[in-house]
Amino acid sequence: MAEFNNRRKKKICMMCAGKAKIDYKEPETLKRYVNEKGKIVPRRVTGNCSFHQRYTATQVKRARAIALMPYTK
Ligand SMILES: [Zn+2]
Repeated sequence: MAEFNNRRKKKICMMCAGKAKIDYKEPETLKRYVNEKGKIVPRRVTGNCSFHQRYTATQVKRARAIALMPYTK
């Protein structure tokens, strides 16, 4: 990037930006929000806003409940 300061890159919520849509019926879209162990990655990593982080968590939990995603690996 052309930025010359050392501050952290500002993250924007991909869902607020309309660049990502997640759906519990589509585990492919949820994979970006879980790590290799199947855990939901924290907001500081994903850059989600609080609303969408909670939304993501709900979708992942639903996907797990219907066996589309693993609880653990
Ligand atoms: Zn958002």
